[in-house]
Amino acid sequence: MPELPEVETVRRSLEGLVGRRVVRAEVRSPVLVRYPALAEFLTRVSGRTFTALDRRAKYLLLKLDSGDDLMVHLKMTGRLLQQAPLDPVEPHTHIILHLDDGSELRFADTRKFGGFYLIGQDREGAPPGFRRLGPEPLSEEFTPAYLRQVLGKRKGRIKSLLLNQDIIAGLGNIYADEALFRARIHPGREAASLTPAEIHHMHEVVNQVILESLALGGTSFSSYVDGKGNKGHNVENLRVYGREGQPCVECGDPIARIVIGGRSAHFCPRCQPGRTSRRRNRAVGSAAKSKRAQRRDE
Ligand SMILES: [Zn+2]
Repeated sequence: MPELPEVETVRRSLEGLVGRRVVRAEVRSPVLVRYPALAEFLTRVSGRTFTALDRRAKYLLLKLDSGDDLMVHLKMTGRLLQQAPLDPVEPHTHIILHLDDGSELRFADTRKFGGFYLIGQDREGAPPGFRRLGPEPLSEEFTPAYLRQVLGKRKGRIKSLLLNQDIIAGLGNIYADEALFRARIHPGREAASLTPAEIHHMHEVVNQVILESLALGGTSFSSYVDGKGNKGHNVENLRVYGREGQPCVECGDPIARIVIGGRSAHFCPRCQPGRTSRRRNRAVGSAAKSKRAQRRDE
């Protein structure tokens, strides 16, 4: 699923939209217009000009001259592409915005989990959770002190808390696993057991993995591409995510995958020794459960 670096890369690649006017909106799958109702969406989008491209966590915010924001959530398999009319329309293209320079902004989504929201300044209609988003990595609010304070009062395992968008917005499975590996913290550790030094290190490596991925244009496993159709190059930079069974870059032991809170966690059992009990280590669960978690992460 696209996380902060991927969505930011899409945003940067679509900067050319600023100043473009929407001549006509073509909605082939009305269900992907999440808010408002289709007729109102079409009226409020048509004839409007993009004034800026913003992003909050994993949400793209395409600002319109009406004051509305066209919010796009890519979810797992969404792709937002600016293409020429003669470029082949890829399968599963559900929404096309025809622009005044003849180009088209196309939204394709194989699994149809993503979608468009047109929201005003009151944010009515925004997806649940949008208002609760916590600070993002690399932001001023994201400090070691913040992380200490927020982790100190939450129960739960560090991996699950890192994925909680109310705590850190924009972080997903890939970068949570990568950050935990670099901090040498077992993903199943109770967050409350982390020392101040470990939290400090955590903070540093979360920023580090996000920065590195941004520099490489994000991580492309299957569907993710930027707004021009280019894949990111961060896959080669991954040390644990998606590397189950392959040798650890530090110690050579095989990378393991377990399920924590319904999500896959990739880690090196030697470099990230666990303090979990035997009972907790059974969190791996059944093969079916593990498969489901893997699917959710793709
Ligand atoms: Zn290792």
